[in-house]
Amino acid sequence: MHHVILRDDDTNALTPTECLERLYRPFLDRGFPVNLAVIPNVGTNVSRDDGSPEGYLLDWKSVAAKSLPIGGNQQLVGYLRENRGYRIAQHGYQHTRDEFDSADGENIARRLDHGTTLLVEAGFDRPRSFIAPYDKISRRSYVEISRRFGVISTGWFESRRLPFAWWPGYILKRLSRKPHWRVGSTLLLSHPGCLLSYRRPYETMFDRVQLAIRSQPLTVLVTHWWEYFRENRPDERFIGILHEVAKLLDKPSEIKVTSFDALAAREVEF
Ligand SMILES: [Zn+2]
Repeated sequence: MHHVILRDDDTNALTPTECLERLYRPFLDRGFPVNLAVIPNVGTNVSRDDGSPEGYLLDWKSVAAKSLPIGGNQQLVGYLRENRGYRIAQHGYQHTRDEFDSADGENIARRLDHGTTLLVEAGFDRPRSFIAPYDKISRRSYVEISRRFGVISTGWFESRRLPFAWWPGYILKRLSRKPHWRVGSTLLLSHPGCLLSYRRPYETMFDRVQLAIRSQPLTVLVTHWWEYFRENRPDERFIGILHEVAKLLDKPSEIKVTSFDALAAREVEF
């Protein structure tokens, strides 16, 4: 059996519900969980390396506030709560570049806890999984995050960022060539890169996804909703590939689509 987690990053107070509905209706209708990494308090002036605003900041020009809590978008929150297939993970705090890449434990703890509070106040269940912006997690952040979350999903692991006490487990993971591992009660999941991205060739995207799923017991498939709506236009071909993936996953005898929450609750063994 191959388990698959679909993870979509960067939902925030400026995300139009229509975008998520367009992308994920075929998954929701099949009863597949869609794991949304939600930014609790999105910073509105976060830019890319070239200085342009981040792709997930739609309508950013009309926003005066420096940050926007997710609960401020009642339409979006209502839509996500109505469709129980959406499972909410905490995606950082404001999604600034280095917010969890520091050694300041107090600051890290405050951001984690306030982010969780904002998600709970918006009406979501308390998040059990955490995804750091830009995959940047410091040694101290790993400690603070693992105290609060049952699952950490990130691109890869490297010893220079891991707490020293985690090294023996990390070495075993390396030796056994396993993509995922566990420290205490926290599950640490890596992923094979953002296979569903407009930066990848469309001709081979579906095959790469299929190959990744079939090559391991659990695959985290990462994508970003805003990449399908660049410059406010739906990228029909790209959306079509995502919807082909929904059909691919619809093979209950071979593939089980699951959620971070189910893994945190140890309802799924892989
Ligand atoms: Zn992100």
